[in-house]
Amino acid sequence: MSARLLLEEMLIKRSQQKKRTSPLNYKERLFVLTQSQLTYYDGRRERKFRRGSIELSRIRCAEIVKNGGEIIPCQNKYPFQVVYDTNTLYVFAPSHDSRSLWVQSLKGEIKDNAVVSAKFHPQFWQEGAWLCCRQVEKQAPGCEEYNLFGDISRKPLPPIPREERSKNKKQRRPPPPLPPESDDDDDDKEEEEEVMVALYDFPGTEPHDLSLVKGGEYVILDKCDVNWYKARNQFSEEGYIPSNYVTEKTSANLVQFVWFSKQVNRNKAEELLRKEDTEGAFIVRDSSTPGTYTVSLYAKSAPGEGGAAIKHYHIKESQGSPLHFYLAEKHLFSSIPELIEYHKHNAAGLVARLRYPVGKQDKSAPSTAGFSYEKWEINRSELTFMKDLGSGQFGVVRLGKWRAQHRVAIKAIREGAMYEEDFIEEAKIMMRLSHPKLVQLYGVCSQQKPIYIVTEFMEHGCLLNFLRQRRGSFSLGSLLSICLDVSEGMEHLEANGFLHRDLASRNCLVNDSLVVKVSDFGMTRYVLDDQYTSSLGAKFPVKWSPPEVFNFCKYSSKSDVWSYGVLMWEVFTEGRMPFEQNQNHEVVTLVTRGHRLYRPKMAPTAIYDIMQLSWLETPGDRPSFSQLCLMISDALESETPPPN
Ligand code: ADP
Repeated sequence: MSARLLLEEMLIKRSQQKKRTSPLNYKERLFVLTQSQLTYYDGRRERKFRRGSIELSRIRCAEIVKNGGEIIPCQNKYPFQVVYDTNTLYVFAPSHDSRSLWVQSLKGEIKDNAVVSAKFHPQFWQEGAWLCCRQVEKQAPGCEEYNLFGDISRKPLPPIPREERSKNKKQRRPPPPLPPESDDDDDDKEEEEEVMVALYDFPGTEPHDLSLVKGGEYVILDKCDVNWYKARNQFSEEGYIPSNYVTEKTSANLVQFVWFSKQVNRNKAEELLRKEDTEGAFIVRDSSTPGTYTVSLYAKSAPGEGGAAIKHYHIKESQGSPLHFYLAEKHLFSSIPELIEYHKHNAAGLVARLRYPVGKQDKSAPSTAGFSYEKWEINRSELTFMKDLGSGQFGVVRLGKWRAQHRVAIKAIREGAMYEEDFIEEAKIMMRLSHPKLVQLYGVCSQQKPIYIVTEFMEHGCLLNFLRQRRGSFSLGSLLSICLDVSEGMEHLEANGFLHRDLASRNCLVNDSLVVKVSDFGMTRYVLDDQYTSSLGAKFPVKWSPPEVFNFCKYSSKSDVWSYGVLMWEVFTEGRMPFEQNQNHEVVTLVTRGHRLYRPKMAPTAIYDIMQLSWLETPGDRPSFSQLCLMISDALESETPPPN
């Protein structure tokens, strides 16, 4: 049948969520409207590219979709709907005018249809509910009158009482017989694909990358690397994306919500809330007990507190099934997002309503493991230099920019300071070590001398100077938070079987959010200087080394743990030199005889106990970094009064 062509345009189609809450995807499709059919194609108007088709006689409603404020996760921002049989097709037009044209043309074509609906849903069906009326049945009757001849901006109908709803269902016109196995939903066969949501924008830097738009949804095609996935966007473009920029799209995954901050401990939460100083400011964060969550809430004038107060509420789970979450025992919810939504509007026993989520809005995107997938060589002509940051064993470190926009630290390796070839080989492995508490290696310029090592830039420089320059200003919580950051970075190295070999506060750096990260891991192996590498050398870090290292050069994760204990000591003395009065050879004798560093005044005994565990003579008796993380985060949680 050759029907007259009425409209043709590239639009975006949302998958139809045939299962209750199956993930959504958005695909660019060529939509073609004729006098008999609405058909969509993957790219070209040819039969083999046809992905679906709806006979106009089956269409019951064509109307724009009202946006209730939710993010439209694709480039086209003007949604409309086509209701046919028992399905709703959502289509996104690029402009207001384009949408009007489609809706008006469709309305014109279906005006004589016997099946035209009396009511419709003005908003989306999403994640198992109609957003307009909260009805959870997909076939629930529409909640607004459908006017084929007017526009959508009319008064909504009064809500339908419960009994009425079921009556309505019975009275509804029987749906027309289902069409023969039609081809109206070929696209939906692909719904099983894994869809993830972008947490940050990622401007792809190489042709094989795929750019990400915060909030957008992406189909994961291949998890080819822990740090880089191959993905597809709604325009069917494919490429590599950083795995730490996306998160699973399930309602149980809290990372996708603005009010949730994963890497925030009790002390950081208090810092952020105090800085914000807004009534009802709140953060939902991981509790120190893994798998549980805490709401930290700020009230400017909390009753009985005589001023501002921060309360930490543990999100409790009811015993038995079904599982329920609650803050106040009278108010139970089947998910944490629902609980938060409720307490946004009702304090219900909390010191304030949850009015203002803090922490994520202006959070900058994390580092990626290199600038692109499998890219470790950086073109030196793409680097510009800005200022000197300091100098160390290998040479001068400068602040610079890559491709005129990414701030980076560039270490120019002094001639004769490094086993360069070995390092360049190892750099490929080091780049894969990507963690929020490790200074990221972005790549190297190895084609010319001097070679450059390009890393994440850390605004406040090295931790040792940071401690010394701010002596007297640290609270117990902030010192513990520094130790926790370092233990988390080290836990990642430990988990990957990677040894630091020179952990000390001088080898940690601090960024502008005051996050402390571990730097220079494994680098001592490439130092070409006996004074540094020989345990008898003047530059050997004896004061940070356990007996098995200064005696036999026997390195292990447990020798890193010893150094970590010394680093804790540096933190709690706000940057003093360990064994200040002693030369290296004296320290060897003292430590061999069982002598240890004294308890710093700022360290409570429980914290000094952790340091002493790290300095146990037998390496196997020392805690692991994952145990240290737990000990420090427990100490941090109990440092302020227990949660209400
Ligand atoms: P080396 O490895 O050659 O011994 P360092 O890593 O100790 O050099 O760097 C020397 C100094 O340069 C540090 O103390 C610090 O002040 C500064 N620096 C090094 N890396 C960075 C960085 N990524 N961001 C900011 N400052 C840095």
